[in-house]
Formats: sequence, structure tokens, C-alpha cells
Amino acid sequence: MLSGRTNVNKFLIEEQRRNPALGGEFCMLMSDVVRSCKAIAQGVSRGALAGVLGDAGSENVQGEAQKRLDVLANEAFINHCDWGGHLAAMASEELDDIYRIPPEYPRGRYLLVFDPLDGSSNIDVNLSVGSIFSVLRCPESAVVEQPTAADFLQPGSRQVAAGYALYGPSTMLVLTVGNGTHGFTLKRDIGEFVLTHPNLTISPETREFAINASNERFWEKPIQRYVSECLAGQTGVREKDFNMRWVASLVAEVHRILMRGGVFMYPRDTKDISRPGRLRLLYEASPMAMIVAQAGGLASTGRERILDVQPTSLHQRVPVILGSRDEVERIERYHREHETGEDQPFRSPLFATRTLFRDY
Ligand code: MN
Ligand code: MN
Repeated sequence: MLSGRTNVNKFLIEEQRRNPALGGEFCMLMSDVVRSCKAIAQGVSRGALAGVLGDAGSENVQGEAQKRLDVLANEAFINHCDWGGHLAAMASEELDDIYRIPPEYPRGRYLLVFDPLDGSSNIDVNLSVGSIFSVLRCPESAVVEQPTAADFLQPGSRQVAAGYALYGPSTMLVLTVGNGTHGFTLKRDIGEFVLTHPNLTISPETREFAINASNERFWEKPIQRYVSECLAGQTGVREKDFNMRWVASLVAEVHRILMRGGVFMYPRDTKDISRPGRLRLLYEASPMAMIVAQAGGLASTGRERILDVQPTSLHQRVPVILGSRDEVERIERYHREHETGEDQPFRSPLFATRTLFRDY
């Protein structure tokens, strides 16, 4: 108990000594972010006793019904992070526009982006939810002037840090500052995140995939091909059986993949062609892509690496395929082969009779 194990503050200070470019301001910002997650963990764990479940009776900018905890978690991030003087502005999944630092507080050189409560439809059924965050540098010129949404439109490769908190049976914080991905577990009696999972790595191979199979008929051909091959198992071209998982919370899906490998897909589909994907680039895809890449995995849209995607708007959505490197590379290859027609053999009627997808 008094072993002096590394906690998240010590970890961050050591990272800052290793990389002085991060600056003391960065560590202080991160401890505000960590405090936000602890506050949300507390609210989530009390559930119905604290009267925090149910709908808030409002919609967010995405037109999704907000849960009461969506609103409370959003306020937790804002109230813990806006006064510290480390931020130029914030952007949240739950806010239409960026959050400007109130004039009474000093402004700093970082931008904070967050999904305050991910998987919030899980909250009323007492399943895992999480928070996702990403730290960017504010472009020089914007620090003194008023930052705008355009300052947030940076590709994921420019993130200074990314992480998530998972409010599961235990509360965990998973964090990268560009030097590996590391997991901490909340020790509630002392209120500290203790380093329990240093240097997480995702095995390049897997026998597990996660996808919302109810959208099957809307998927593009490369995804239909990939999933049909997984389902064919030992008798198909993959010559091994696969398992399928689906938690419907991105944080929980990514966490499972960090712990035991796998591939997660929320691909582009034709269900609503105005949306090129389901997940948000800035709040969800980019931070998870950095976390996964720092653990040796890969994140892709199928056509492009997520860390290279140049955002064009704050609430932009993208297809997300992430996890074990070999599988993500295979799915990227299927997209390329579809584009060039090299997957013709898999579209023949002969192939179709051997899969579940008659129209392949
Ligand atoms: Mn989310
Ligand atoms: Mn959310």
C-alpha cells in the first residue's frame, strides 16, 4: 500500500523531464483532465442513487438525445479545465461550437477536445461507459487572439496526448503522450490512478472481431468480404475460427483490443449516405488512433490512416477500422483490391454460394 508505485502525476512529470517540450503547463493541464475523469467516475458509479440516469430532455448538435450524465460529464470537463490557464479553448462532442475560456481566466497554448461520456446509451443498463480526450497545440497566432473552430482542425498525427477513462468494474485511465500507451487503475481509497499496465501492446494477429452486424446489408463490399471470411472460419480462406464481440461503447471496444487484441470496425455504409461514418474524427477516431498506434496497432478508414485525415469540420464523422495490425492491413488491402477490381473472383456467383452474402 505504501509501495510508492507510479501514479499518473509522477508518470507525467517523468514524461515531461524526458520531453521538455511538453512543459510544466502540460502536466498541470493533464492533472485537470484526470480530475475531470475522477469526478465523472464518481457520478457514474452512484447511478440511480444520485438521480443521474435517464434523458436530459435535450439534443446535442448531432441530433442525439442527451442523457443526464452526458450533460454532467460535459460540465465536469469544463469546470475542471477552464480556469487553469493552460488552455486556449475546448471542443466537446456535446457542444455545437467551441468553448471559449471565460475572460476572467488566463489562456494557455493548448486545445482540449473531448467526448465527455462515450457509449452513453449503455448508462441506463449499467454497462461500461468512458470519456475520451485529445490535446492539441493551439496554432501560435490564435493564443493571443480569439481561437476559432478552425484552430482545432488538425490531423491526429499532431496530437500531443490522447487518452480515455473507462468506467467499468474498475475505473481505468489509458494514456499516451507519444511514448507508448500506458494504463492506470483508480485506487479509490486514496483517489489516485496507479500505473498498473505500462507499455500496452496489441498483438498483430487476432481471432476476434467487433462490428454491428445489423448493418450488414449497408456495408461496402470490402467489409462484407472480410466479415464473410471471418464467419467462414476454419472452412474458409482464413482457415481459423473467429469470435465476435460488440459492446457498443468505443472505449470498451478499444480497451478490450488493448488487453487481448482484436479488430473493431465501424465502417462507412450506405444506411445514411450523408454520413461517411458513425464515429467523430476529433473526439473519438483521432485519439483512439493515437492510443492504438502507440501500442503497435493500426487505425484506418479503410482507405487512409486515421492519423493522416485532415479534418474539415469540428463534428466530422469518419469510418473507423482499428486494432491488430495484420487485420487492419488486410482490410485496407480489400479496399484497394475492390477499387482496382482485383477482388473480382470474390464477386463471382461461385464464391457467393460459399458465403452468407448472396449478392457478393
Ligand atoms: Mn462517443
Ligand atoms: Mn458522448
